Amino acid sequence: MASKKQIVARGVAIGGGANIPIQSMCSIPFTRFDELAKQALQLQEAGCDVLRVALPDEASAEPFRKLRNMLKIPLVADIHYDYRLALKALEAGADKIRINPGNTDKTHLKLVTDAAKERNVPIRVGVNAGSLEKDLLEKYSKPTAEALAESAARNVALLEQLGFDDIAVSMKASDVRMMVDAYRIFAKNSPYPLHLGVTEAGTLRSGTVKSSVGIGALLLDGIGDTVRVSLTADPLEEVETAKILLRSLDLYDRGIEVISCPTCGRTTVNSIELANAVEREFRDIRAHVKIAVMGCVVNGPGEARQADVGVTGAKGEYVLFRGDKIIKHISPDHILPLLRKIVEEIAKTKE
Ligand code: SF4
Repeated sequence: MASKKQIVARGVAIGGGANIPIQSMCSIPFTRFDELAKQALQLQEAGCDVLRVALPDEASAEPFRKLRNMLKIPLVADIHYDYRLALKALEAGADKIRINPGNTDKTHLKLVTDAAKERNVPIRVGVNAGSLEKDLLEKYSKPTAEALAESAARNVALLEQLGFDDIAVSMKASDVRMMVDAYRIFAKNSPYPLHLGVTEAGTLRSGTVKSSVGIGALLLDGIGDTVRVSLTADPLEEVETAKILLRSLDLYDRGIEVISCPTCGRTTVNSIELANAVEREFRDIRAHVKIAVMGCVVNGPGEARQADVGVTGAKGEYVLFRGDKIIKHISPDHILPLLRKIVEEIAKTKE
């Protein structure tokens, strides 16, 4: 049940059955432009497909333009409350803007939708449980899934009334059940692409789990067209986590995939350290390469056979497999560079 409609931001399709783009957001303000640019370029390099930055004031518009021109991926302007900032962002080349249409009056909103339409720039209606409209809070007495879905429908209707339908929608909450239910309610009657995310999900570990549960549940239902894993951490972690999340559902076919066991009393090598080193140091590999890092020969050969390359511990050494074949026995001190060489070879043939 991917969305029926598709939007396109700087050549990146969202919805309508397209691949699911990974989104993230810069955490550095425009007042520290060099650091911000470095972070944005790192995120692009890491595989972020759509990048968002906060545009909190008019002074940020020119650096926004500069940053956008440095990137190849779409740059989204996150706007709060002020329609003038949305107009500035559009003038500065924003590839998409995120606003809450209900926060501005119709005349001003029309200026924004006209400017967006003229430039073929989509708008994301970004509803958040922390900033629901007063009347909805009164109606439902507290933030609920129904209130989020109603707010989204209402904000979408405001854009539609102005003849604008280049729309994506998000309904984020830190409460996973509420977020999941809101998207399920809304998706039943809406053709628009859905941007999935659990907001304020927390630190690396808890945010990863909460996002995986919320986003994963929806994707398994076929709901959702783009994702942001929101973490209180380096945004690079958001991108890496999103890749793993999507890959676990066969929705991502780039980069390395590490299959590793938890280890047990049969392990004679430090395969936990190796698996982590592989995951950390092979992030630059673009092609999908499956690497098994296993603690012993009980399950190692079986996993290795299903991977592109596999290693398994045995008597204090690693045994290197490619398919059914044992290539060699190698000491733990030399395994990482050798694996790197093999993975690069495999990546080259796959690319
Ligand atoms: S593969 Fe071997 S080391 Fe790893 S958990 Fe299984 S039995 Fe233990």
